[in-house]
This record gives sequence, structure tokens and C-alpha cells, in this order.
Amino acid sequence: MGNRKRIEKTRREVLQQLVGAAAAVPLTRLLPAPAQAETGAADLTLRLARGQQKAPVARVKAPPAVESFSWQPPYRPEAALPENAVPLPILMYHRATVARVFEAQLAGMLAAGYRPLSLHSALKGLFGEEELPAMPIVLTFDDGWRIQYDAVFPVLKQYKVPATFFVMPGFHEHQEGYMDWDQLAAIADFGMEVESHTLNHADLPRLAKTDWGAVLAEVVISKQLLEERLGRTVRYFDYPRGYQNEQIRQVVQAAGYEAAVAIGPGVHQSAAVPYALRRIRVEAWDTWWSVAHKLNWYGAGPDQLNREEPEPAEG
Ligand SMILES: [Zn+2]
Repeated sequence: MGNRKRIEKTRREVLQQLVGAAAAVPLTRLLPAPAQAETGAADLTLRLARGQQKAPVARVKAPPAVESFSWQPPYRPEAALPENAVPLPILMYHRATVARVFEAQLAGMLAAGYRPLSLHSALKGLFGEEELPAMPIVLTFDDGWRIQYDAVFPVLKQYKVPATFFVMPGFHEHQEGYMDWDQLAAIADFGMEVESHTLNHADLPRLAKTDWGAVLAEVVISKQLLEERLGRTVRYFDYPRGYQNEQIRQVVQAAGYEAAVAIGPGVHQSAAVPYALRRIRVEAWDTWWSVAHKLNWYGAGPDQLNREEPEPAEG
């Protein structure tokens, strides 16, 4: 059964489930959905995300030679965060990934002293349940592209580096070029995080204006499917194209996700803002130098984070 049909079939069930669950969790305030225009911060996020579409990553076949590449960093300022924000860079990768380029980035990152963490470990640090290492960094891969399995996964295995893959479960059934269940199981069994990116890469704020049941299905069923097929808890959500607003963030939280990643920009995270974690976009042509340059620009560069540990008090 295709995902669309699955959504149609289960929409009523999901709604009943959610209404039934309202006794346990505060879901009632989410139903029914107000048909409201996005305003304020959400609208800004939307426009920023749309702006990023101007450079289609998928068209990049191979990285240009470093010497000939005139690099113009598309930096945007990081929005203000509560005072308790900490530097916790989360890198966002997409389809255009070349194994040797990725390996060079990863090698540079490790040599500079960064400590790649799973999102789960990183958030335990953010939430104060564990201590964050000195130079934390999280690698995330969006959309579940097959190329990530072919080019990225072997490098991650080789370097024993954890990463988080945000996928649309079952998407390979109606689109070519995506990881199938066996491949998702393989990366999950190796210890990589496989988390939800909806069922259909849905523009959730737009969908919410016309089809609230579909929004619920995209958020809730994608989690259920991944959990059923991979036999592990799905904790994190990735808004397709970064499109989100307060209403969508509430649905994601109510569905049981512990946190969600957006499209940055920025490297600082706050435990008070777990459903809009910032990310820095890494492109196929990025060298480690250019990745480090981005980190540096936002205040989480190698020299900025590599602070000396305070001397232990004597006696
Ligand atoms: Zn995506």
C-alpha cells in the first residue's frame, strides 16, 4: 500500500487515537486546527528556508577543484536564544555527498578535536543529564537518499562515528534513489539513529491549512512505521525544508518526539528550544576548511571551542 493510501486509510484511526490519548497528554488543544496564517518567527523561518532552495544541491555532480572555486559563504545571522544557550553545532547533509569529500571533512573534523555525538547523547548534554564533551558536533543526513548508504555509511563505519539519518519511511516504494527497509535496518543495527522526516516530505504548515488529518498522519505514522519496522524508539523529528510554526511544533511534541531539528542557521542550542534545533548546511563541495569556516563564523570554530580545561583545584 502506498503512503498516500495509507494516510487516507488510517487518518480516522489516527484522529481517534489522538483524541483518545488526550486524556493522558494535552492533545485537546491541538484539535481542531485553527486555519491561521503563519506569522512572526515561523513566517521568517519559512522564508529563510525558501531562500535556501535557490541553490539546488542535487545538481552538483562532483566537487569543483578547491583552487578554482570562488566560495561565497551564504551566512545569515543566528537568531537570539535564551542566555543558557550552549555551542552544539549540528551539521546538515543532503543528497549530494561524495565519499572522499565526506571522508576528508570527517578526518579534518576529528583532527581538529571535534567529538561527533549521536543526537541522543548531544541532547542529554543539552538537557543537563550528561556532561557535554569540549567540542561536541552532531552529523545529520536528511531524506534517506540511497547515496548516503553507499557513500556515507561506509565512512562513518570506518571512523566509528555516530550520525543521525532523518528518513521518510516507505518512500523508496514510490520514488527511486532512497534507502529501502533493509538498508535502514542495516544503519540502525550498526548504531546510527534513524529518525522521522515525515512520510512524504510534506510541507506541514501548508498542509495544516487544508488537511489537518494528513499532518497528523505525516507526523504520527512516520514514527510508528519506523518503530515497528526497525524495532527501536524514534525520538526526533526533522521538518521537511525546515517549514514549521508553533502549531506544527506542538503536534510534533504531542506525538511523542523529544526534539526536532530545523534549518538553522546557527550553532547554539538551548534546552528551552528543543523543537527548533539549529543546523548548519554542509554542501557537497565543502572542504573541511569551509566547514570549519562556517563553524567559526557562528562562534563554534575549532579555536573558539577548544578552550583549555580549568586546572583542577588542589587539595
Ligand atoms: Zn528533507
